[in-house]
Amino acid sequence: MDVKEHIKKLKAERNAVILAHYYQSLEVQDVADQVGDSYALAKMAQSARQEVIVLCGVRFMAESAKILNPDKTVYLPASAAGCPMADMIEPDDVIKLREQYPDAAVVCYVNSSAAVKAVSDICCTSSSAERIVRSLPQRQVIFVPDQNLGSYVAKLVPDKEIILFPGYCPTHHRIAAADAETARNEHPNAKILAHPECREEVLEYADYIGSTAGILEQACNSKEKELIIGTEMGIVEILQRKLPDKRIYSLKSALICPNMKKTKLEHIERCLEGKADPVELTAEEMEGARLSLERMVSV
Ligand code: SF4
Repeated sequence: MDVKEHIKKLKAERNAVILAHYYQSLEVQDVADQVGDSYALAKMAQSARQEVIVLCGVRFMAESAKILNPDKTVYLPASAAGCPMADMIEPDDVIKLREQYPDAAVVCYVNSSAAVKAVSDICCTSSSAERIVRSLPQRQVIFVPDQNLGSYVAKLVPDKEIILFPGYCPTHHRIAAADAETARNEHPNAKILAHPECREEVLEYADYIGSTAGILEQACNSKEKELIIGTEMGIVEILQRKLPDKRIYSLKSALICPNMKKTKLEHIERCLEGKADPVELTAEEMEGARLSLERMVSV
């Protein structure tokens, strides 16, 4: 039997739902029931009624799914798919910052481990970061782990003092201002749509700054014939497929998150066959991270 057919059959037998991030390969997105960015995936996982959730993404996404819907069996198909930015910070780093800034609140980008979320006050996504920071009564805010998203928020909320941690997404951080300059010169009529994980000097070139879901929506509603996309190549591929009449360029060539591309159909098949280990977290991680994630959802 063809692997896609087999996945479909196993999915029904196991009462499973397959959720995939936009940065996953198109063949993985094609077998998914729903596709979204990290915030949408967290919401989908939270409301999933099926017994099994197969989360095609990186580890922190599967952890969030488990935390928000703890009674379900959650699988991360490519077990080695981590997020280098999430791996740049340990709970001890947050604890030290708290000691240094005892009056500050700790806002943790969802691209972080459950252990780091558990020692933070509240989580945020790229689309909710500004709203979350504004909602806090504290004037000082420790923002972890993404320095680029943190500086973007600091500009939007100047009445807060944002203390940054030096983490970054290697995929977005690779884009330099010179790349944006080149793209603008090569395609002078194109609008630049960029993710706030890009460096501040790159965002200065952007006509629109937003999450992956925001970029997709903006591109689909745009009247422009040419668009330059400043985020992972997966979004460029989706837009080229969705908008064949527009010219979609990448802000930099080969802008790929290698971890997001680790998921193969055979990994999904193995999970559904019960041959892979489901995501497990300690009770402390589950409880602490749940509070931070639920506070985010409530804001
Ligand atoms: S694109 Fe960046 S932030 Fe997203 S999973 Fe890959 S390394 Fe992590």
